[in-house]
Amino acid sequence: MCLFCKIVAGEIPSTKVYEDETVLAFRDIAPMAPTHILVIPKAHIPSVDGITAENSAVVAHIFEIIPAIAAQEHLVGGYRVVSNCGPDAGQTVNHLHFHILGGAELSTQMA
Ligand code: AMP
Ligand code: ZN
Repeated sequence: MCLFCKIVAGEIPSTKVYEDETVLAFRDIAPMAPTHILVIPKAHIPSVDGITAENSAVVAHIFEIIPAIAAQEHLVGGYRVVSNCGPDAGQTVNHLHFHILGGAELSTQMA
């Protein structure tokens, strides 16, 4: 089981900020901004490359949830949503996840 599947299963602890039947959001263990949250599908999808017509409904759902999390976290000044896909992007956990970064003015450098 991958790291994030273990978090979904409750085998590894996490600080949850949102959960429903198909989606989990929790605080990143090594925050890169004052607010740094990871939003994941509970089902294992390896990365953005693994999104298909069969599983993309959960991705749409994640993008409905993200603004609600941002509001809950009072990210009134805005926020950034990032998904690293593959080695060139520095993906370290091979379970699809979307970073929500905010709580301060972020770097203008995206790459
Ligand atoms: P990425 O590098 O885009 O694959 O993002 C993986 C993220 O998972 C990194 O920002 C890590 O800090 C974060 N991470 C790794 N292990 C944990 C964990 N046990 N709980 C919360 N976040 C984690
Ligand atoms: Zn997984």
